[in-house]
Amino acid sequence: MVDHRRLGRELELFHADPLSGAGLPIWLPAGAAARHAIEEYVRELERRAGYQHVYSPPLGKRELFERSGHLPYFAEDMYPPMRISEDDEFVLRPALCPHHCLVFGARGRSYRELPLRIGELGGMYRSERSGVLGGLSRVRAIWLNDAHNFCALEQVGAEVADILALIRTAHAALGVRPAGFRLSLRGPGEKYVGDEQEWNRAENLLREALDAAGQPYVEAAGEAAFYGPKIDIQIQDPAGRESTISTIQLDFDKAARFDLSYMDSKGQARRPVIVHRSLVGSMERLFAYLIEVHEGAFPLWYAPVQLEVLPVGPEQHDVAVAFARTAVEAGLRAELAPDGSLGARVRAAARRRVPYAAVIGAREAAEGQVSLRLRDGRSLAPMPAASALALLTESVAAHSAELLPAV
Ligand SMILES: [Zn+2]
Repeated sequence: MVDHRRLGRELELFHADPLSGAGLPIWLPAGAAARHAIEEYVRELERRAGYQHVYSPPLGKRELFERSGHLPYFAEDMYPPMRISEDDEFVLRPALCPHHCLVFGARGRSYRELPLRIGELGGMYRSERSGVLGGLSRVRAIWLNDAHNFCALEQVGAEVADILALIRTAHAALGVRPAGFRLSLRGPGEKYVGDEQEWNRAENLLREALDAAGQPYVEAAGEAAFYGPKIDIQIQDPAGRESTISTIQLDFDKAARFDLSYMDSKGQARRPVIVHRSLVGSMERLFAYLIEVHEGAFPLWYAPVQLEVLPVGPEQHDVAVAFARTAVEAGLRAELAPDGSLGARVRAAARRRVPYAAVIGAREAAEGQVSLRLRDGRSLAPMPAASALALLTESVAAHSAELLPAV
């Protein structure tokens, strides 16, 4: 069975060190390069969809999380507060929402600004027992693709529909294949905030958005967040275990807790509704999934090394160095592998799941060409070096999940 922990080690994507602590993996250069590519892609996707990005600290005053409801409702998932002085206590945040509420409240807001979409790839912490931790799928320090969309009530339906469309776009580019959609509702015996009427309204809004999108889903009682119902998009690992990769959550509670309001067109103060949403979840869980579903062979656009340049002999060394440099200048992650037999180098590149190798022999060097070989064994006829770079950079720009453009 494919196991992301084994592949993560073999491909040097991340490192779990007992001295770092259980559930606190370190991203190695190859894993960090792939993650960086995905972070840039998601940020750009969101920017085009009208999101504005912020940075906020993963550590905050205890009062902030009392105000947000996390300490009363979520304390068992949090680390104990750190007392700095008699009247100063800090906590590692378990969610980004409190800080994003402060962003909304930093100045007066008008209805013209809504929906106000505040995005951040931010750090947060979850207290987990060491027995349940493993690789990247369950960790204690989490970097979440998160956003909070502050809406007027009548905007919520369209906003949820737009988020569902963004999730589909991101999943297609990454090669994520959801196992199912779940509408998570209240259940008996759990702690929830807010009144009955608001919960009914929120649950109906989500139901309507899923129906309008023609999206099949199951309803799950007792799976809602403490502040509202949500749509969860599930993935499955090779052992059949389900987890949530994307989420859309409605919240009628936090805007009141933080006393957030905007001026409507008649000059009346109104409460916004908050939509918490994540397109691709945490970087950790996303990579645990991507490593397994692709068996380490990522699409070209987020492969840690995209192009291995292979001079056949020492005579082609200088040409190969120049070509590798041009590839790097063109924005590609390219490496030169000059030593050993050509066959061994081609195999080594394929074993490391490098999507493309550019072979440069005497004839290619003389004619300014390269011969591209794909990690799946296919090879292309020699082509001008500039054409080869164009082929790769176009595929990267398109965020294609396929190695070669369809013909
Ligand atoms: Zn949130």
